[in-house]
Amino acid sequence: KQNVRESLYLVSEYANTYFQNVLHNTDQGKAIGLSYFKERGFTEETIKKFQLGYSLDEWQAFSDEALSKGYKLEFLAATGLTIVKGEKHFDRFKGRVMFPIHSMSGRILGYGGRILTNDKKAAKYLNSPESEIYHKSKVLYGLYHAKQSIAKEDNCYLVEGYTDVIQFYQTGIKNVVSSSGTALSADQIRLINRLTNNITVLFDGDAAGIRASIRGIDLILEQGVNVKVCTFPDGEDPDSFSKSNTLEELTEYLKENAKDFIQFKASLLVKEANNDPIKKAETIRDIVNSIAKIPDQIKREVYIQECARIMDISENVLFSTLAQINKKEN
Ligand code: ATP
Ligand code: MN
Ligand code: MN
Ligand code: MN
Repeated sequence: KQNVRESLYLVSEYANTYFQNVLHNTDQGKAIGLSYFKERGFTEETIKKFQLGYSLDEWQAFSDEALSKGYKLEFLAATGLTIVKGEKHFDRFKGRVMFPIHSMSGRILGYGGRILTNDKKAAKYLNSPESEIYHKSKVLYGLYHAKQSIAKEDNCYLVEGYTDVIQFYQTGIKNVVSSSGTALSADQIRLINRLTNNITVLFDGDAAGIRASIRGIDLILEQGVNVKVCTFPDGEDPDSFSKSNTLEELTEYLKENAKDFIQFKASLLVKEANNDPIKKAETIRDIVNSIAKIPDQIKREVYIQECARIMDISENVLFSTLAQINKKEN
């Protein structure tokens, strides 16, 4: 089993060299892949740092090259880079820019590949499937590059996508990771929690991003980690926002707009239905539900006080609601 894993690592490593080589040294790679990254504002240094690549728009270019180098079809298939159908085999990734996903120690576990056309029928991002070496709920994109900075800053920015991580990093905010296409998991939060006790969620400024933030908050609180949320203007994501702002502007924006989870949930209410008592009651209950997830009793008490203040309701009512929730769950 150890040998199988090692073989998959070797295949993934080879593919990483291959995709980068195609990006930098082939006509198609340069004309399509490299110019795409440049248009997105990625510098040569960034492209090299994140080991970005390109997969040729052909049926089996990668697989055949790997086979000719002696890599076994069995292992190519096990990484998901090659798809075997009967006697035939195909490349999983074709005509996509490639984002290798690193382990904490820098080994390549899998890939995300982005399509370059606006073909609405094809998935914008395609990811490696689960394999012996890639368990997507246990990996965070960018963690390998971010880990030192997360520890140093004692905070981790959590974004949705690959390009958000890269653009933030390039702008100068390096303590940033992404769950990249999977719903945030408890294991992913534990990975961050080995480095810091503070997470700032920076999801996209659209309805899906706000929904994902709300879901993420409770999961983070359950792990005993402190959570803040900073939203972006509708239609913006961390990538687009950092691309059009300087490091100073970005830092200022994050400082001004990062809210703790109670302020964040209260602000959603203000946006939706400020004067509706039913909505307000729902929001208060929702906030207390989140507070109930926090393992630390002192923190729970402090947040109850904050909620009472912000929502203008008595602490007693909130404490007894909290007690009811705890009773129901035990
Ligand atoms: P871009 O800026 O390149 O258009 P994005 O990162 O802003 O992409 P979103 O649509 O905001 O893309 O999605 C966030 C993340 O979710 C992506 O980075 C990717 O990891 C994942 N994702 C998006 N679309 C898909 C898809 N069709 N299949 C699998 N994962 C996806
Ligand atoms: Mn989005
Ligand atoms: Mn996005
Ligand atoms: Mn984007």
